[in-house]
Amino acid sequence: AMVTRLGPSPTGHVHIGGLYVGLINKDLAGHSNGKYLLRIEDTDQAREVEGAADQFNRAFGYFGLEADEPEGEYGPYFQSQRETLYLTYVRELLREGKAYLCFATPEELADIRARQEASKAPTGYYGRWAIWRHQSDEDTQKALDEGRPYVVRFKTPEDGPLRISFDDAIRGKLQHEANRNDAVILKSSASSPRLPTYHFAHAVDDHLMRVTHVIRGEEWISSVPLHLQLFEALGFEQVTYGHIAPLMKMIPGGKRKLSKRKDPEAGVDFYIEQGFPAPAVQYYLRGLANGRLAEVPLAEALSTPLQLSEFGVAGPLVDLVKLEGMSADYIATLSSEQVYEQVLIWAERFDAELATVLKADKDLAVKAIGVEREGVENPRKDLRKWSDFRPQYGFFLPALFADATGPADERVAAVGLRPEVVTAFVNTFVEGYQHLPEQPEWFNQIREAAAKNDFAPSPKEFKKNPDAYPGSIREASQLVRVGLTGSTRSPDLHAIALVLGADEVLRRLRALA
Ligand code: GLU
Repeated sequence: AMVTRLGPSPTGHVHIGGLYVGLINKDLAGHSNGKYLLRIEDTDQAREVEGAADQFNRAFGYFGLEADEPEGEYGPYFQSQRETLYLTYVRELLREGKAYLCFATPEELADIRARQEASKAPTGYYGRWAIWRHQSDEDTQKALDEGRPYVVRFKTPEDGPLRISFDDAIRGKLQHEANRNDAVILKSSASSPRLPTYHFAHAVDDHLMRVTHVIRGEEWISSVPLHLQLFEALGFEQVTYGHIAPLMKMIPGGKRKLSKRKDPEAGVDFYIEQGFPAPAVQYYLRGLANGRLAEVPLAEALSTPLQLSEFGVAGPLVDLVKLEGMSADYIATLSSEQVYEQVLIWAERFDAELATVLKADKDLAVKAIGVEREGVENPRKDLRKWSDFRPQYGFFLPALFADATGPADERVAAVGLRPEVVTAFVNTFVEGYQHLPEQPEWFNQIREAAAKNDFAPSPKEFKKNPDAYPGSIREASQLVRVGLTGSTRSPDLHAIALVLGADEVLRRLRALA
């Protein structure tokens, strides 16, 4: 069984990459009967944003990424609430001489850095110039008595190779420069609360939380040497690391990492606001992690466990057009009632007017969604996300019709008939109109009204003799279409008329005359 975790830092923006990594971790744990934990890494309080943890919970909740054990036995799951645990381990390292108090001032640190850069020795070895590393207990006590602020640093072991290699569950054997820095493990004594740095907290937490696999973004590869040292110094059993390639965006001439500054689709909120269904996004991201899954059917892909060894090492491209396609496929598998429920949930958050109308006119909305969906082999795929409902289906709902379609005369103009012809045709059609369930009869009504008004029987005939007719049967149908839907393109007109009902059909057509 794998115990995995996601360790997001609450900096006020939930990145799609975080969702991606979280999904992978949850999936790995779930398929191995393990556990997936969510740990809020809030030790960097300067970067922290008010309410960010709630933001996570909402975003992850939407995508089904809640922790398996929100209040579990290894909590608390906020690092800021684990202060005493960290201090216990810091004390242990100090007692064993594996860490030391460092009272260096900013000037001293700058000086050390300058010497380090000037030296020809292997870079990065802090200890050589670190006066406090070699200080006697008396001097340390004296500085403490003087009340000077300090941090606690890890005493990097002095022997050991310049490069180390380790096994990465995704990338295989990796080599990296060994850590030669006396990293800070506990932040300044002048700050309150006294929090550890990310590196130290990671080691302590992943040990105490029984994490077996640390699967995270590749930007952490360079920290592995330090993390291995910390685990070793603390006497913890090592975890398995796997580093995931970042999500990329196609740009002219190449690709780059998705940027939260430049790309709206880098934020999880984008997908929620646009109303991408969570399963479609999950499916898409799983497919990115493991390219193979993109080719198998949805249900199968969702239940196929991810295999770390099959992950790509190059960052996969996020392609919104592909995502929309998958999302449309997914929505096409839902019943009208299910689509209605989901659109309503979305609208309640992002489109209050739509939500009100949907609730007031539920039967009509469900029937509208059912047009060319219920009982057909290839359902329409005009909904790629819930926000598409208003532009695609808004015209069905009388309360939204005017808004969705604009003024009648503009719509009519698109058909290209003279106004007096429009009036005459509409009057004839309305007079003989019967709300008929059969498709051919409905079309016959249009044909008859067209004939009575001397329309050409076919577009071809009209084209041959444009001056002899006011229009053709094609313009007549277009006029009815525009009258009922506001657009020259729509699903089957007869089906729409049946959903709208006779009164509404007549009201809309009369408005054209
Ligand atoms: N807090 C780190 C981050 O925000 C987590 C790194 C890790 O998973 O070890 O990316």
